[in-house]
Amino acid sequence: MTAQLTSPNNVLANAVEDSLDVLRPRVLASTANTVEFVVGTQINGHPHIGTHLVQSLAFLMAEQTRDAFGADPVVSFFALDNAPAETATDPDTGLTYQRAWRHALAPGEIDTMLTEHYRPLFDALSASTGIPYTVTTYSEQQDTPAYRAEFLRTLEHLDDFRWWLSPTDGSAHIRIPCPQCGWAQKYAEETRLIELDDSGALFSSVCLNHGRYEADVDPFGGGYIDLSTLYRNVVKERLYARDDTALHVMVKGADWSYGCQLVDGAHAVLGTADTPPRIFTPQVLAPDGGKLSKSLIRDSEPGDPDSFGWMLDPSLWPGSAAGYVGQLDQTARLMLSDPRHFYRSYTTTELGRLMTTRPAPRRHNSTPARPRNMAIYRQYFDLIADGSKTVEIRVAYDSMKRIRPGDLINFTCREDSCLTRVKRVATYRTFKEMFGTEKVEAVNPKATEEEQLKAIHAIFPPEKEALGVIAIEIERVNP
Ligand SMILES: [Zn+2]
Repeated sequence: MTAQLTSPNNVLANAVEDSLDVLRPRVLASTANTVEFVVGTQINGHPHIGTHLVQSLAFLMAEQTRDAFGADPVVSFFALDNAPAETATDPDTGLTYQRAWRHALAPGEIDTMLTEHYRPLFDALSASTGIPYTVTTYSEQQDTPAYRAEFLRTLEHLDDFRWWLSPTDGSAHIRIPCPQCGWAQKYAEETRLIELDDSGALFSSVCLNHGRYEADVDPFGGGYIDLSTLYRNVVKERLYARDDTALHVMVKGADWSYGCQLVDGAHAVLGTADTPPRIFTPQVLAPDGGKLSKSLIRDSEPGDPDSFGWMLDPSLWPGSAAGYVGQLDQTARLMLSDPRHFYRSYTTTELGRLMTTRPAPRRHNSTPARPRNMAIYRQYFDLIADGSKTVEIRVAYDSMKRIRPGDLINFTCREDSCLTRVKRVATYRTFKEMFGTEKVEAVNPKATEEEQLKAIHAIFPPEKEALGVIAIEIERVNP
């Protein structure tokens, strides 16, 4: 039983056949070895369904990128422990101060929060997709010399790009919290950049408890660097633009699409080349059309059937934790299966329907490893489905080299799928060499060797072919 889902067309969905086709130009142009899907979340207790959806989709996008492009993707989760844990107002000046979770909690408590609220879902998603993940706190990231140096470099252009970060008042909101107590002015009204040279920067600011203080920032040490959300993303994306070992894909909820024009304006001023691609995941909307937010918990009446319950606090899900993860996984897969389902928003009503009307698939311990999903274009999908195409060709990325005879491969095209079993795997140095052994008509019964080579070379540039070629002989399972 599959939930029916109807989605209208839109500009982006109309331009692509597969939700992740938007990544193809960057994947093809990239010489990086891996694709890193980057997800950042403010950590503040129970994540809600919107957060879980972004995280689930990051793993599924990585899985499909592996299967469609052959890359070896990973998911990098950034826990934003610089989110405010407490705020206070100075009665004399009326200025707002804040202290981040990093400074408000005892050492180790952030990790406890991550273990309790985040790792169980990540472990389940990683196990079901075979995609590895890492967890990094913002505090760890701002402590790296690369991040600190990147931040310092932006300061040289501060007068030019601060208007992009804060078009209202041109304030860059650089928070260098008090070294003694960790409190900082929320909007950094009294923070001054006193000195900037090749070795670092000197800031002056005011603490709620300790008055005016100075703090050095250099690549290898000094004050904690806390930045406004937009500024932090500018620094992070510049850092990724410099890294040619991995293609970074920023995974963000679609409400970010508004904010990115300011990030892009800042990049233009700073001359950032090759900013990382971004993917915006569906927004979850309350019935009034506003984004589902934790503030709704406060506003909803206990016992109100429309009080969002488990959507805001997944521990209230009326079933097992495994069942919740299974439904989340299936719902996210359904969204990703068609660009019209992916590049849109969902109300809590519709999301609730999708999450509860389909039973999670039963998984028996006796069944072999779950099938690997491989997205494939319609023309090839149809040939596999009718049994006339029995050899699938892929570049020999590491993920493809793991395929063994007996493995199950589920070829997918939009909402159609075709389950196959691997009979034989062969490796070749080039596509041409491959056709010396493999039957041309088994790869594609409708095209000559010359036509097929031309089509293959149009998709895979020489540097991809140089990794080697894998031919996978398949047979349909229960046709
Ligand atoms: Zn202080």
